[in-house]
Amino acid sequence: MRLSRYFLPTLKETPSEAQIVSHRLMLRAGMIKQAGAGIYSWLPLGFRVLKKIENIVHEEQVRAGHIPMLMPTLQPADLWRESGRYDDYGEEMLRLKDRHGRDMLYGPTNEELITDIFRANISSYKDLPLTLYHIQWKFRDEIRPRFGVMRGREFYMKDGYNFDIDKPSALHAYNRHMVAYLRTYERMGLQAIPMRADSGPIGGDDTHEFLVLADTGESEVFYDSAITDLTLGNRDVNYDDWDECAAIAREFTTPYARTDETHDPEKFAQVPEGRRKTSRGIEVGQIFYFGTKYSDAMNATVQGPDGKPAPVHMGSHGIGVSRLVGAIIEASHDERGIVWPEEVAPFRVGIVNVKQGDAASDAACETLYRALTAAGVEVLYDDREERAGAKFAGMDLIGLPWRITVGPRGLANGVVELTDRRSGESEELAPDLVTSRLSPGA
Ligand code: ATP
Ligand code: MG
Repeated sequence: MRLSRYFLPTLKETPSEAQIVSHRLMLRAGMIKQAGAGIYSWLPLGFRVLKKIENIVHEEQVRAGHIPMLMPTLQPADLWRESGRYDDYGEEMLRLKDRHGRDMLYGPTNEELITDIFRANISSYKDLPLTLYHIQWKFRDEIRPRFGVMRGREFYMKDGYNFDIDKPSALHAYNRHMVAYLRTYERMGLQAIPMRADSGPIGGDDTHEFLVLADTGESEVFYDSAITDLTLGNRDVNYDDWDECAAIAREFTTPYARTDETHDPEKFAQVPEGRRKTSRGIEVGQIFYFGTKYSDAMNATVQGPDGKPAPVHMGSHGIGVSRLVGAIIEASHDERGIVWPEEVAPFRVGIVNVKQGDAASDAACETLYRALTAAGVEVLYDDREERAGAKFAGMDLIGLPWRITVGPRGLANGVVELTDRRSGESEELAPDLVTSRLSPGA
C-alpha cells in the first residue's frame, strides 16, 4: 500500500477523552473513530488488525475441530422468553420492536439461538459431540462504556457452543477450548492466564476467564508467578485426546490464579511468598460448562443410546475479538507508539523514503516495494512529500515490526537501513538482502 493513496488519519495531539494508552494510541494511529458512546467505526488500519486477530481465532477454532457458521445480530425476543433470560438480562439488553410490533433484541450473546438451531436439527446422540461457533457483532448497553474498544457497547466476539451427550464429554469440550484459547492468545504474542471465575448471567458450574496482565485492567487478580513461566509453544496437540487436553488444562490451572470475584485468601497464603503476585488484568475470553441449563429450559433433548430422551450438556466459550486489539496494545507499546507483534501487525514492513523526489531514492523504494509485495509481504510505503522526521514518528506510532529507511546517503554506499521496531536495532544491508530477509520462509 502506498501511503499517499491510503486513508490513515493520524493525530498529532492526544485526544483528551482517552484515559488509557491503548485508546489514545488507537485514536492517534487512525485506527478507530467514535460514532457514539461505546460504538466505533474501524478505519482501514484498525480494520486490518481486527481481521488479523479474527483470522487467528478462526484458524485455532478450526484446528480444534469446531465448526464456523454465522448467526444474525437481531434476534426475536420469544427465544429469550423460553430460557427466562428476556427478563433476567436487564438493562444491558438493547430491545427494539419491528414494524409489526414484535419484540426484538440486538444479541448480547447467542445461547438461545444456537439451542433453537440445535433442537430443530439434531435428534440423536449419534450426531454428538458438536461444537459450532461464530464471530459476530454483539451489543450490550454497558452502563459505563469506556477505554475505547475495550469496553464498547457494540463489540466483536467469537462465541462457540458445544453440545455433548454427557458431562465427561462436555468437560472434554471445555478442556479442548482451554487449549485452543491458550494457543490463540500465544499466537497473538499475548500471555493470557486462565483464572477461575464466577459464572454471572450465563450461569453454570465450571468457568475460567483468560486475563492479560496490565495496569489498566478492570479486574484485580491474584496469582502464583509460576504460572507466567508456562507456555504451550509448538506442542502438537491432539484435540481428540481427552487425557492430553485434560493434562494441559490441569497444567495451566494448577498454580493459583484468580480474580477478585473468586479470590480465596487462605489458598493464596499457601503460595510461597516470593511468588505471590497481585496485579490487574484485562479479560479477553471466558469458557463455561453449564450442563443442561439451556437444553432443559428449551427442550433440547436427543435420543440417547438406550433409546430414551437424554438432555444435552452444553458449554459456551467467548473471545473478545475487538477488545483484544486494545489489550494487545496495552501489553505492547512504548513512549513512541504501538509495537505490534508480527502476527497481528496491520503491515509487516514500512518503507520510509527520506528524500521523496530524489531519483535514486524513489527508484530504490519502488523496487523494494514491488519485490516485497511480489513475495507476499505486506508493505506500507510512505511515499508522501513529508519531512523524514514526521515519517519516522508516524511509523513509530503505527508500530509496524520492520522499517526500511531509504535515502541518498545509504544508496551511495549500496545500502538501506533495516530497523526492528521492538528493539530499535538497525542494520545496513543491500536492498535485495532486505527483501530476502523479510520474505516468508526466509
Ligand atoms: P466483562 O466482565 O468484561 O463485562 P463478560 O464476562 O460480561 O465481560 P463474556 O460474556 O464472558 O463477557 O464475553 C466474552 C468476551 O467478550 C469477554 O471475555 C470480553 O473479552 C469480551 N467482552 C465482553 N463485554 C465486552 C464489551 N463491553 N466490550 C468489548 N468486549 C467485551
Ligand atoms: Mg466474561
